[in-house]
Amino acid sequence: MLLLAALAACATQSPPQTTSGPDPSSSLESAFASVTPAELLAHVTVLASDEYEGRGIATEGERLTIDYLSAQFRSAGLRPGVPGRTFLQKVPIVGYSSTPEFSIASKLGERLLRFPEEYVARSRRLRPVVTVENSTFVFVGFGIEAPQFGWDDFKGVDLQGKTLIMLEGEPRKPSTAATPGSADRLLRETETYYATRSYKFEIAAKKGAAAVLLVHDEKLSATPFEELQKAYRRESFEIAPREETERPAVEGWITRAAFERICSDAGEDPADLRQRASAREFRPREFAAAASFAVTTELRTLESHNVVAILEGSDESLKHEHLIYSAHWDHLGRDVALPGDQIFNGAIDNAAGVAQLLEIAEGFASLERAPRRSVLFIATTGEERGYLGARYYTQNPLYALAHAAAAINLDAGNVWGRTTDVNNMGYGLTSLDGVLDQAAKRQKRTFVGEPFAEGVYYFLSDQVAFAKAGIPAVFPGPGSTYVGRPPGFGDEKWDDYGENRYHRVSDEVGPDWDLSGAAEDARWLLDVGYEVAQSDRMPTWNANAEFRRPD
Ligand SMILES: [Zn+2]
Repeated sequence: MLLLAALAACATQSPPQTTSGPDPSSSLESAFASVTPAELLAHVTVLASDEYEGRGIATEGERLTIDYLSAQFRSAGLRPGVPGRTFLQKVPIVGYSSTPEFSIASKLGERLLRFPEEYVARSRRLRPVVTVENSTFVFVGFGIEAPQFGWDDFKGVDLQGKTLIMLEGEPRKPSTAATPGSADRLLRETETYYATRSYKFEIAAKKGAAAVLLVHDEKLSATPFEELQKAYRRESFEIAPREETERPAVEGWITRAAFERICSDAGEDPADLRQRASAREFRPREFAAAASFAVTTELRTLESHNVVAILEGSDESLKHEHLIYSAHWDHLGRDVALPGDQIFNGAIDNAAGVAQLLEIAEGFASLERAPRRSVLFIATTGEERGYLGARYYTQNPLYALAHAAAAINLDAGNVWGRTTDVNNMGYGLTSLDGVLDQAAKRQKRTFVGEPFAEGVYYFLSDQVAFAKAGIPAVFPGPGSTYVGRPPGFGDEKWDDYGENRYHRVSDEVGPDWDLSGAAEDARWLLDVGYEVAQSDRMPTWNANAEFRRPD
């Protein structure tokens, strides 16, 4: 029962004083020391055990997980984050699966397209039946309206009730489109939020479009069309929209061939349209063809939970402001249709990140004097289903979003030992890079001051929800240079994880695990958070970021 003993050791902590007291630095040192590989492993071993059944939302695995997290926050001496009451923020979720019908009308007559061969579509308006009649197609290029990058594909054209056709991704210099690379991005060196499907569905709704179809690009797309076919045929999950019009009535994807077919029915030239789309002067192009949809959707309601704890700040004038640490506790649960191992244990994704969150929280709670600003710890639900818990939190914040100094998200911890370097997947977007760099230096490590993988990972976890709410958000992670290992060791391990374990039943605690790196990374981020919570000024977005603090 070694594991349990270690956990018991950190029980019955009293909360730090909020009045003036002894030198904070020594207390900070002991907070760092309280973060240990053994305790990290103990948390991961529990959360990624078969008993927790892959931590699916609204399952027995959820109940075990949120009980465990609440108990850990409580025993660390933190206060319930849902003011005055509980550690649990209820998150209503809707399970939905849509069956679409889609036809196009042109001078050539009516044509029914085949689902899922030629297109996939659904309605996230979460209504049993949604129809769109005779809605004119409008090709809107990449569908991007980015004033800070001087790009506007809409040029003020009225798109109310139209069916928009949008290209996937973001514009690139035409000449090198065949071999994409960061050098030829037209908006910014790194990927922008405008390239994401979430943005494209949102802007279509904002323009009042009835429906939006993204043109799948086999070469560029991170998601093969087969994956989209699977995703649009199985049950998906969403949180209810604040306003129905926040989402288009119908959204989906068409294959390149289907796009070309619609173009030829409408007498349009797809190659010419694509070329025009990569020019700043692009204007929307209305087709002589119209779409009609009938989407029936099966719905069921579920209840899940964010687990939230708070450490109140010590400075009367600053404690109303807060720093957010987040890590998603949910994973893919159990697939009873699978032969053999059916449990997606999610050890790296994201039991490891949650373990770091718990250790950082325990470290802060052990401080003799709380930092000036308050610190919020949120173990989010539904990240695997579309950042549901983080989005729900920003739509139903427990503390004013305008007072959120920053958000630090932990997803997929390093389990292969110590690294000499660390990085931030959203490098270049906020003033926090400087804080990350200084804290790495204090550990005699290197902060990789350049974008990782063109910044695409920044849009693949909960930080994007906090960023969209205007909170300067970072997604820090380990670098790739491992202490005492040959060059390439890190890339090899992450590639193997990506190919053989990511979102597979094999994402389990391994015999080769060494959490000394994850512990050092957690101490790094504890130090970063302490700096932010102590600082006179709030972190800021850089000018080239697409996000801004709310006015
Ligand atoms: Zn994850």
